[in-house]
Amino acid sequence: MKPIVKTITCPKCGKKQYFTMYPSINASSHPGLAEKYLTGGLTTLTCEKCGFAGNIEYPMLYSDLKKKFSVFFAPDRDDREAKLMNVLPAHLLPGMQLRLVHSADDLREKIFIFRDHLDDRIVETEKDSILREMGVRHEQPFPENLYYAQDLFSCEGRSLIFVPKRGDAYLEPIKTPFETYEKIKMLMHDIWERPVEDYTVVDSTWVQAASLGEHA
Ligand SMILES: [Zn+2]
Repeated sequence: MKPIVKTITCPKCGKKQYFTMYPSINASSHPGLAEKYLTGGLTTLTCEKCGFAGNIEYPMLYSDLKKKFSVFFAPDRDDREAKLMNVLPAHLLPGMQLRLVHSADDLREKIFIFRDHLDDRIVETEKDSILREMGVRHEQPFPENLYYAQDLFSCEGRSLIFVPKRGDAYLEPIKTPFETYEKIKMLMHDIWERPVEDYTVVDSTWVQAASLGEHA
């Protein structure tokens, strides 16, 4: 899909100006555009008159055909599954991970997970267990959510980095050894049975339902 140019009114000074939206981005053929999206360059409107900068959210399909994933970002909705017809060529669909997200944080997280060749179902389970442990320790401030951010290789070995978020604030990142991820992977059985066919929200709710054997 081609970019769409829209007229947007600055919420601060009322100045009307053009803003370009990208309804879909193919990261494997346009890596520069994908990077620009991830750093906020395609979702920030800076008013040409008063300098006010605001974030603009709109539906967007982010696909990486080489790394075999496609994430549909649908803000202002809360459905758990979406059928998107003919957005990807049929021959590319086998093995493609299709995900639905409703927040910009979730979109970025899915992209980071799949780019690092990780499995988001394991990541969700690990996040759940980190939050549970923090709860047991009565940690303050207690985050509302954790977001996977990075696969880190250092002299201490390989580790996964999670960024906790509370309200609008991102808290001190949490580092976990890669072995924890591998251990969880070995302990998970039932979730591999539950297929993901359409664009689906895969979060802790999905993983919990799958591990209880509830097939949607
Ligand atoms: Zn303005």
